[in-house]
Formats: sequence, structure tokens, C-alpha cells
Amino acid sequence: MLDSLGEISTDCSNKAHNWPALILNADYRPLSYFPLSLWSWQDAIKAVYLDRVDVVAEYKEVVRSASLILPIPSVIVLKSFIKPSRRVPFSRFNLFLRDEFKCQYCGKESNNLTFDHVIPKCKGGKTKWENVVAACNICNLKKAANSAGQVGLKLAALPSKPSPEILLNKGKKFPPRNLHATWRDFLYWDVECEE
Ligand SMILES: [Zn+2]
Repeated sequence: MLDSLGEISTDCSNKAHNWPALILNADYRPLSYFPLSLWSWQDAIKAVYLDRVDVVAEYKEVVRSASLILPIPSVIVLKSFIKPSRRVPFSRFNLFLRDEFKCQYCGKESNNLTFDHVIPKCKGGKTKWENVVAACNICNLKKAANSAGQVGLKLAALPSKPSPEILLNKGKKFPPRNLHATWRDFLYWDVECEE
């Protein structure tokens, strides 16, 4: 085995590429989708070394220690099953995903989406699933600290907390970029994968 995890190095000098490993639960489903469960090559190698995972697929690149050469894992599977969390984190990405990356007032997709408090913060509106929506800059500025009705804006739908299933279904429309070819068998995104 590796002499020391501190002494391993990779063949490739391209530091920008960190060879993430897709981490699967013991049932061969990704440990999480949003964000996609990825480990750095260092963590993946460590888990292999500690015998906590099996390697399912590998990159062409290898890591070296004094006595060993190991291919970098691209897909690993946990040996023990972890019960998936039912919790949907209230995160920027999850909120935009719930709203399908569209302004909830004008319905336009925008690269400059922001958050809008339906009941403005200054009027006691909370920062929570039920009171925050994705909004484009223009609608956000227009609405400012008013209610939508006051400035002629209308919400597409009342915001609510999404279930993990709802987010998973919405996520099918928005696959992450740069999916490695070896991950495709374990993901549901129907897309061309990059090498
Ligand atoms: Zn808008």
C-alpha cells in the first residue's frame, strides 16, 4: 500500500484539473445530486487506502508514492450504505433550481438572477423558502421594497419549500457541466458527456 498519503503525487502537471471522483452510496446511486457528490482525488485515494470504498472506474492519470502507482479513481462506491438525507438545504443553487433559473415575475431566464423577498425584509419578510424567489435585476429593482401588486408585478406561483423529489425532477433539466464519461452510467442526465 501507499507508504504515506502525504508523499503521493500525480503524473500530470495540470493543477487546474483536480480529477474529482463521483462518490456513490452502497446502492450505486450518487450520494447526493445537488450538489453532485464529488471528492477530490486526494480524498478518493485516502478512502481507497482506508478500505472504505471500492473503485468502480478510473482516470487515465495515476498517482505515485515511493512504492506504488495507483490510477486515480473517477467513480467510487461506499462499502457501507449511508441513509440519504431528506433535508433540502436552503441554498442559492437549490432556490434557483426550484424556480428553474427564471425570474418569477417576468418569467425570463437570466444570467443575472437575484433573490427577491416577496414580503420585503423591511416589512418583516423572512429569508426562507416561502418568501424568497428568483428575480431578474430589472424586476428586482422595480419591486424594491414594495409588494409586487403595488408596482404591477405578479408572481408566477406562490413560493414553497420543495421536496427532494421535486428538486431531483427539476434537476434533470439542468445537468452540471463537465460530466466525466465514466459517471454517465450512474447519473440520470440524458446528455452527451465530455471526456
Ligand atoms: Zn424579471
